[in-house]
Amino acid sequence: MNKDLQNLIALAQIDKEASHLEPKITHIENELNEKIKLQVQVQDELEELRNNAKKATINIHANELVIKENNDKIEQIDKKMASVKSEQELRALDAENGLAKEKIAYANEQISQFEKELENFTSKEEEIQHRIQELEKEIQEDREEAQKKTAKVRVELKKIFDNKEKIAKTIDNKVLIFYEKIRKWAKDTSVVVVKKQACSGCYIKINDMVYSELLKSDDIITCPHCGRILYIEQ
Ligand SMILES: [Zn+2]
Repeated sequence: MNKDLQNLIALAQIDKEASHLEPKITHIENELNEKIKLQVQVQDELEELRNNAKKATINIHANELVIKENNDKIEQIDKKMASVKSEQELRALDAENGLAKEKIAYANEQISQFEKELENFTSKEEEIQHRIQELEKEIQEDREEAQKKTAKVRVELKKIFDNKEKIAKTIDNKVLIFYEKIRKWAKDTSVVVVKKQACSGCYIKINDMVYSELLKSDDIITCPHCGRILYIEQ
């Protein structure tokens, strides 16, 4: 077999190994990022809870003020009632009184609603804070684990690339460039074996002429259908 082709087969195998390892690093990093995203989400949840509590407290105060104002109003109405002169005046005061009482009732309703919202605030806040702490711990551990794992993969990759460099040096530069060109689109199936007279990249049968050339010739031959580099297993 052509010496360059022989080395090219080895090189293609190395490239294949490297392309399996590289996504491993991405996968490890993605897993860690997912957990960090979750932590951000829980932190947002805590902030929202605190904002809602703040709003509820402000609303309670505002409603307390409404109650106070209307109580004062009722007091004034009571005083005016004592010196009422006409039926018409009495009706107007009555209406005013009724309105003030309605406002107080509504404010009380609102207060009890906001108080209900605040009821579980502390326990909820504690629960979320606890979750954040747990996540922080997990992330710290995962980060250390991820660093160890990626370091290991990088060592493996380095070995692979060193090996690749060594082999690449033995191959004719033109052949190497040709291979890299094919690799751009064919990726890990740039150099493929011929099985049952068919290219194992595109699976199309190779005609007798090219096939006999493959068997006899010492040249680098590509698949007439897809352009991948072909070889016969020896
Ligand atoms: Zn093919």
